[in-house]
Amino acid sequence: MRTSPAFTGLDCIDCGVRHDPTEITGRCPDCGGILDPAYDLDAVDLTRATLRERPFESMWRYAELLPFDREAAVNLGAGATPLHECDRLAEEMGVGRVLIKDEGRNPTGTFKDRGQAAAMTGAVEFGADEVSIPSAGNAGHSHAAYASRAGLDAHVFLPTRAGDTQKTMVQAHGAALTEVPGPLTEAGAAHDERAAEAGWHSLKTFVTPYRHDGKKTMFYEIAEQMDWSVPDAVVYPTGGGVGLIGMHKAAGEFRDLGFTDDRPSMYAAQSTGCAPIADAFEADAEIHEAVTDPDTVCNGIEVPDPGASPWVLETLRESDGGAVATTDEAILDAALDVCRLEGVEMGVTCAAAASGAAALADRGEFGPDDTVLLLNTGAGIKDVATYAEGLAAE
Ligand SMILES: *Cc1c(COP(=O)(O)O)cnc(C)c1O
Ligand SMILES: [Zn+2]
Repeated sequence: MRTSPAFTGLDCIDCGVRHDPTEITGRCPDCGGILDPAYDLDAVDLTRATLRERPFESMWRYAELLPFDREAAVNLGAGATPLHECDRLAEEMGVGRVLIKDEGRNPTGTFKDRGQAAAMTGAVEFGADEVSIPSAGNAGHSHAAYASRAGLDAHVFLPTRAGDTQKTMVQAHGAALTEVPGPLTEAGAAHDERAAEAGWHSLKTFVTPYRHDGKKTMFYEIAEQMDWSVPDAVVYPTGGGVGLIGMHKAAGEFRDLGFTDDRPSMYAAQSTGCAPIADAFEADAEIHEAVTDPDTVCNGIEVPDPGASPWVLETLRESDGGAVATTDEAILDAALDVCRLEGVEMGVTCAAAASGAAALADRGEFGPDDTVLLLNTGAGIKDVATYAEGLAAE
């Protein structure tokens, strides 16, 4: 396995046991807990100056802080996305600055590429030959592209209600597509059964230990793009919470390396049509209650039963952040508003962050000088049909 020098093993977040990544992948064999790649930061041979000299071309410029060597990378150029200053939005929200990190610029149009890049590299290094995933749509699309890049056979399970773009592109990349009626939970169950029978290497959310580490690179880029400062608040359209956990981890790593002083407050934004995290945060609960009848235009965050909710909720509290849910109507309005005010095309799912940030600002959660960063986790043009519905409703 071509692991990076500082990667010391996979730590179980529940029982604390460290596992050898050459022998173990998936969940903790002792207790079923989620595995988190651990690093010896003293062994990270990296400075701000070194980073600044490197071309801003992909997430692999942070290979010292990823599990695998750059030469092992299954690479389609994910990462190195722009950060847009949004003055008119800032004025509208009554905050100092609004920044949008535009993850729509990734190879398959969403930040899922960062997670799949790391996890597919892990699969190849582990010796997998058939990989699989259940997904609401975008992770499946990205998975198919990265499997094809790696030369592996792929099996993707999507809810029947997933977007046409995602279903078509999964097949364009040559992956086997299985559509499962009902919410994501059903596609997940169908996948798990088939994957266990067939011995597929699963890259499901928080089954592979590597997706949140791929996604954490979003924060590294943000800190660099902000000249080694950090936003006061990050508002994140939250499904499983993979990127939110990853960015909080990255913020801790950059702080501990002495690259930045602080960590941002992390906020989870959801739609009221499926808001298990926001509801649990509101109720001061340590774990979510599964949503039985999810229904939202934000298909990328329609995750009714997010398995890592205790970790997500702990992250929100530890970072002094919070959670918010707004209606689909408000989210569609926000998507159109950002298009018109700033020229930035947010995915409809991602506009939950714009709508949520506005609601948080109304609640007085942000100060007039605060820098609020919105994650545009995916491209607007992946959601054209929903944009058309929003326009028709105006
Ligand atoms: C998957 C997805 C999300 C949610 O990601 P998590 O990290 O699992 O919470 C948000 N936005 C888009 C566009 C997505 O595809
Ligand atoms: Zn364990």
